[in-house]
Amino acid sequence: MTISRYLLCLAAALPELPPAAAQSPPGTDIFIAPLERRPAGLAVGAPLNITGRAGYDNQPGWSPDGRSVYYTSAREGQTDIFRYDIGTGRTAAVTRTPESEYSPTVMPDGGHLSVIRVELDSTQRLWQFTLEGAPVGPVLEAVKPVGYHAWLGPDTVFLFVLGNPATLQRARVATGQSEIMARNIGRSILRMPGRDAISYVQRDSTGGTIRELDPRTGQSRELAPLPAGNEFLAWTPEGELLSASGNTLLRWNGRASAWEEVLRFSEPGLQRISRIAVSPAGDRIALVGDEPAPGDGTVLLLPDRVFDGIEMHPGWAVLVRGDRIAAAGPAATIEGAAGARRIALSGMTLLPGLIEGHSHLLLHPYNEASWNDQVLRESLALRVARAVNHARLTLEAGFTTVRDLGTEGAAEADVGIKQAIAQGIIPGPRMLVTTRAIVATGSYGPRGFDPRWEVPQGAEEASGLEELTRVTRRQIAAGADWIKVYADYRWGPGGEARPTFSVDELTRIVETARSSGRPVVAHAATAEGMRRAILAGVETIEHGDGGTPEVFRLMAERGVALCPTLSAGDAVRQYAGWRKGTDPEPAAIVEKRASFGRALAAGVPICMGGDVGVYPHGDNARELELMVNYGMKPLDALRSATAVNARLFHLEEQVGAIRPGMLADLVAVAGDPSVRIGDLRHVKLVMKGGALVAQR
Ligand SMILES: [Zn+2]
Repeated sequence: MTISRYLLCLAAALPELPPAAAQSPPGTDIFIAPLERRPAGLAVGAPLNITGRAGYDNQPGWSPDGRSVYYTSAREGQTDIFRYDIGTGRTAAVTRTPESEYSPTVMPDGGHLSVIRVELDSTQRLWQFTLEGAPVGPVLEAVKPVGYHAWLGPDTVFLFVLGNPATLQRARVATGQSEIMARNIGRSILRMPGRDAISYVQRDSTGGTIRELDPRTGQSRELAPLPAGNEFLAWTPEGELLSASGNTLLRWNGRASAWEEVLRFSEPGLQRISRIAVSPAGDRIALVGDEPAPGDGTVLLLPDRVFDGIEMHPGWAVLVRGDRIAAAGPAATIEGAAGARRIALSGMTLLPGLIEGHSHLLLHPYNEASWNDQVLRESLALRVARAVNHARLTLEAGFTTVRDLGTEGAAEADVGIKQAIAQGIIPGPRMLVTTRAIVATGSYGPRGFDPRWEVPQGAEEASGLEELTRVTRRQIAAGADWIKVYADYRWGPGGEARPTFSVDELTRIVETARSSGRPVVAHAATAEGMRRAILAGVETIEHGDGGTPEVFRLMAERGVALCPTLSAGDAVRQYAGWRKGTDPEPAAIVEKRASFGRALAAGVPICMGGDVGVYPHGDNARELELMVNYGMKPLDALRSATAVNARLFHLEEQVGAIRPGMLADLVAVAGDPSVRIGDLRHVKLVMKGGALVAQR
């Protein structure tokens, strides 16, 4: 009986609640904050939560002296009125009744409270209590069911009377009679400051408008539109109308044509503000906010083991708060996990979000369309549309960061895709981009056309120190995070790879880029192209197929990393007809194994980057499988794809490791990839910046 009465009343008081949510009242808290009028506008001080307990604490109303706040508090299945004393910080119960009381309002006589009372038979009427909480009796014997009210004077009260539609009624205490003044109204009825008028909300199909009612004439006029998502309002003594939307306090000064932002609150409990009330002197404001869900923003991940970017740790857990890793260590030692949402990841390994070192989101596999056709025939819009899917597939595969090494004819579209991801418009990994990349005039492709035709190229051509300076700067201005240069390409007399730029030219590119704080990456497959790029000061070398022991030693000495792109060669040979597993390995694959072995033997830092785009996006793990197949330990391959790449890409303070303070970019896979590298394909959960972006 008690519970059903309670639910009925909540349903009446909170008509926007769906039925399921009405099963438990929403937790809300009341905050009070200093309010000050300054020449620049209203200033709000630090808010204090005066009802810091779980449950419904709502409907604040100020005492006339501004020293206490009356409010409604739901406890043990019904509500009573409580009073918070600002001077002492103490809270006391005012009504202690088996009935439920709501909406405490100090009456114009200053000595009584009027409340909405839900009586034992569920009748909802306006009642009068002493300020100490003793019931006096119904204010209006016959007017019901009443939801909200506001006093105009000692004998006149305006009421929100429930019904279909809800009506605004004016009642006289002396006669006990009421009359309808407006229909289909919202829940905010207020006496306007300094005048005998009432403001109320007129609901309509688009939300509603705030109107002023002149009680003498019964005429009303529009004051303002309702702000988005809230119909609760308050007046300052100076006649400014306040409301809130989300975490933002708004004001309407009567002259502006829109609601103005006063302040955005950062308190977790004020992210969804509903009711507000300004003290009679205008020096304080009371705000009601939804309580944050338990453990809001805190997630405890409980895998079997954690790879932190360097080592594997069985039995570790990871705590994520907001967008960061808050703690990582043995599950029993994690502090601050009480109340956190727990995600069990049994049988799984948790790793830092993987970092792809060499992607082309604007390419798709060459067995679907040749590189020439993609560059020359596919429209920019088509390529961008594909890239949107590629970005999502990459992220879902657990690769939360990519270094994208050239749009291959798609102009600077990588910059826009990066922005769309960063702005949350499309899902995708964090991106480092290079825009068009730089090639020596006449060395790149598509080629083989009659010289009369000016054929668009897959990268930006340049020659000589002046032009290279200009093109490097232009790409930086266009949004390049790295500058990519082709130190050699297949332009030899027989179509073989040959060096392109001189050491001086490469050095100029590196100096120009470095001056702006950007590193340079070189495509190089020949020993001489690699040597020139190393001497010029590039930071990573892509492919490196023809690297000799001397060249790899030079790389190791200077800390230049090799991004071997094993998968690109593996894919291209298969597109050319190699039946992997059946046919013997082609000479190019045998040679690649040998050169990768020379790089490992020389101690060259190994970047994980597969040239994905040549093969399907989302299949990024293929490169790690081949790294292991070609001689790397699984743990070393995992390090390359996490901590090593993060360091090589100057991101080591943000991603690539699981430790407190790092961005919560995380991937959970079934199994243990330090034993079977292929387990990287069994992605079960992906988190980027603390947000769950994939869970299977
Ligand atoms: Zn590439």
